[in-house]
Amino acid sequence: MITLLYLIIFNSTLLCEGAKNSVYTNPCIEFNELNTQIRDNLIEETEAKLKMDKILPKVEEYFRNNNKDTKEYSEKTWIFPVKNYNKDFIGGKNGNGFVPNKYNYYNGNKHGGHSAHDIFVFDKDFDSIDDLTKKDIEIVSLSGGIVVALEEKWDIESELRGGIYIWIYDPFTKMLFYYAHNKELFVKLCQIVKPGDLIAYMGRTGLNAYKKRSPTHLHLGSLKVYEKGKIKPFNIYKQLIKIKKLSSEN
Ligand SMILES: [Zn+2]
Repeated sequence: MITLLYLIIFNSTLLCEGAKNSVYTNPCIEFNELNTQIRDNLIEETEAKLKMDKILPKVEEYFRNNNKDTKEYSEKTWIFPVKNYNKDFIGGKNGNGFVPNKYNYYNGNKHGGHSAHDIFVFDKDFDSIDDLTKKDIEIVSLSGGIVVALEEKWDIESELRGGIYIWIYDPFTKMLFYYAHNKELFVKLCQIVKPGDLIAYMGRTGLNAYKKRSPTHLHLGSLKVYEKGKIKPFNIYKQLIKIKKLSSEN
């Protein structure tokens, strides 16, 4: 009996140690830390690119080792990221809300341009509840991938433009997707997602998004990753207007 008890304690200690170590070296945690440094303009672009170039292959390896799903999620499998809404709710005209000029990921919270499409919803009273369904507005992952950065809390005094946000890296298309201004998140760092998985409720968090003049929307950033840490705006309007809409009846 004593031996058994000893074994149980010993094994659980080992498990804890193992868990601690794997958390420590986890590439998503490294990515999240780097992303926060970039966001807060605490790291120079050259150094950040070098780090990014080292971290992303590790993220891909982590994804390959932990992904239970054997399907390849190409662009053809993508799902419109706001449930019950479609292309008609994308801001601007014919996708001109996407402004790649002057956008540089490495400028963090001070970036220019708008490497994103905003997707608006029916919310006249700005309470982040859908006027039609009277429910929270579900944000689902557009692509497959892995959650590499997130911010779960936001306060109204914050200068942060994204508010409560998620970054997902999609190893299938080598893209980074940024979901900003959420109310609540349903994913954790390193979580592997497939197209259509619930990741958040839409909200009004972030420096400009909470202000009354801003209609409730999802800011969906899209970037392509190249070698040597190069990250560039990549417009997915062409894909967004074609992809499947997810509705409550599904
Ligand atoms: Zn936006």
